[in-house]
This record gives sequence, C-alpha cells and structure tokens, in this order.
Amino acid sequence: MRDGGCAFPGGSTPPAWADAHHLRHWVDGGDTDLDNLVMLCGHHHRLMHHTDWEVELTEHLRPQFIPPASVDLFRTPIPGNRPDLVS
Ligand SMILES: [Zn+2]
Repeated sequence: MRDGGCAFPGGSTPPAWADAHHLRHWVDGGDTDLDNLVMLCGHHHRLMHHTDWEVELTEHLRPQFIPPASVDLFRTPIPGNRPDLVS
C-alpha cells in the first residue's frame, strides 16, 4: 500500500496489520480511493475515531496528523511516516 503500513508518526506496523482509514466517512461523500484513505494500525485507527487527533492529506497526498490541543496547544501538523520512500 502507498503508506507502507501504519502512517501514524513513529508507527512501524507492516501493511498486513494496518487498516484503511477513510479520511471522509462514506456518509459524508467520501470515496473509497487512495486519495481518501490513510493506512493506520488498529490502535491508531481507534485513536483517530475516539480522540481529537485528526489526519489529512497534504497537497502531495502524504498523510499528516494534527494532534489534539491537549497534546499540542498549537495543533501543529506532524508529517506521517514515509516508510515506502526510496531515496
Ligand atoms: Zn499505528
């Protein structure tokens, strides 16, 4: 998969263990395509749904994670993992 497993910063879960998280839920008009999915392990998938963490795609279609104000008062986006990046 594009994100090479869990995309959460610091995550290292192999793709087989990761779920596809819909950036927009299908009831809100989200499509099941790669531009609308980010790979997350079960733990971080639940974190996105049950806490104030948010995830979005940058203009380069890389996931970035926005921490809740309880973690970072300024809610500075954190780039997701790029384990598939070959330099
Ligand atoms: Zn994870």
